[in-house]
Amino acid sequence: MFRFLYPNEYISSVYEMTAEKIKALGIDTVVFDIDNTLVPYWVKVPDKKLMAYFSSLSKAGIRTAVLSNSKEERSKVFCAPVRMPYVYRAGKPGTKGFKKLMDKIDSVPERTLIMGDQIFTDVWCANRAGAYSVLVKQVSPKDELITAPKRPFEKIIIKMYLRYRRKNGGTYE
Ligand SMILES: [Mg+2]
Repeated sequence: MFRFLYPNEYISSVYEMTAEKIKALGIDTVVFDIDNTLVPYWVKVPDKKLMAYFSSLSKAGIRTAVLSNSKEERSKVFCAPVRMPYVYRAGKPGTKGFKKLMDKIDSVPERTLIMGDQIFTDVWCANRAGAYSVLVKQVSPKDELITAPKRPFEKIIIKMYLRYRRKNGGTYE
């Protein structure tokens, strides 16, 4: 039950997804959610550590982009310093925004990984689109009003997922 909501991987922070690990998966494109995946919702731009991480990926030949459900301003301001392509008001878990992004950066879902902090938007979108889904622990316990009510349901799904993974010999912890 609810297998369609299970991520391929569940990690504590985006930094665990090193260029090496990504390439070993046969993936050449990483699509990020912004809010509570990369930074808390009130932080406008990437910090130095994030900048260094992004450049470690691009140096390894991995394309990076942003897929956000927020307004244009959010992605525009965040992506400007790193010149990262983005699609805003993406409508995740719908896949239209994701497809638009794939066309924009000339990538395919089969070689793309989506990293996000929400099961009902990011993970579900990735799974539907046939991309590799990576759930990241939220960087801040503070959520926007629209997100907070979904968290208790997410916790239930995460518990089920972890139980499933224990039973079936999950590769990652
Ligand atoms: Mg988010």
